[in-house]
Amino acid sequence: MTFEILDPRFSRYVLFNAPLKKLATGFDWAEGPVWMGDANCLLFSDIPNDRILRWSPDTGLSTYRQPANFANGHTRDRQGRLVSCEHGERRVTRTEWDGTVTVLADSYQGKRLNSPNDVVVAQDGAIWFTDPHYGIFSNYEGHKAAQELPCNVYRLDPVTGALEAVLTDFNCPNGLCFSPDESRLYVADTGRVFENDPQHIRVFEMVDGRPRGGRIFHAIAPGCADGMRVDSEGNLWSSAGDGVHCLAPDGTLLGKIRVPEIVSNLCFGGRAKQQLFITATTSLYAISLNRSGAQWP
Ligand code: MG
Repeated sequence: MTFEILDPRFSRYVLFNAPLKKLATGFDWAEGPVWMGDANCLLFSDIPNDRILRWSPDTGLSTYRQPANFANGHTRDRQGRLVSCEHGERRVTRTEWDGTVTVLADSYQGKRLNSPNDVVVAQDGAIWFTDPHYGIFSNYEGHKAAQELPCNVYRLDPVTGALEAVLTDFNCPNGLCFSPDESRLYVADTGRVFENDPQHIRVFEMVDGRPRGGRIFHAIAPGCADGMRVDSEGNLWSSAGDGVHCLAPDGTLLGKIRVPEIVSNLCFGGRAKQQLFITATTSLYAISLNRSGAQWP
């Protein structure tokens, strides 16, 4: 069975006859999916192979950018432009409408960022991103280098361009997303791999545009939460070691989509945003749901 239904609510979210499709394979660590509805395609990273790929239902798989500075997570800003985290240059960039690349952030208080991992853009245009050390830990997903900053979560102001470290008490912040009304911010902490650091999702209440609190929302098992997105009703769909886990706003695990590879990230897309695209180690998967994504884009 593709689905594991742990709560009756989940049976309404899935389609009994919808297959989990493997759309493409041959990657080393697929990550950072973002749906480009106007181009009817998905962009995603293959980090160790230093490329951004494009998958379209019309034309299949092609290369979008290579080399790609070991890009990881992507999103779109409110003007539809691609915003990307780059391990290689240790920065967050925006791809303009003419294809040129603008650097949005590469340092904080005079020190180089570690390796921006995942990114979201809020309704006010602010760019929020996580900065763990995974991309400078080895030469596999970037360039091995000394860590200059703690692993923070940052907010880039859309008007002033000022960078602010908004969350500074994480081991390794990773995936992040807002609830549909932006009253909450979810951030995964994936810790230092093999060092038994806490691995869980924390939830923050947004007060005056800044996150407050930060209690543990859910500890994903097996594996850990990496990328995640919310649907239109505020359920959180998280990557996990055995597939995708669907969590209710109260933290209850409602059910799972079993995927035969470790899942790194996911996003909603396709017609009516009812397809869930899943990057999982060497492959890209998709499955249709009786749900629509809420997360911009
Ligand atoms: Mg990630």
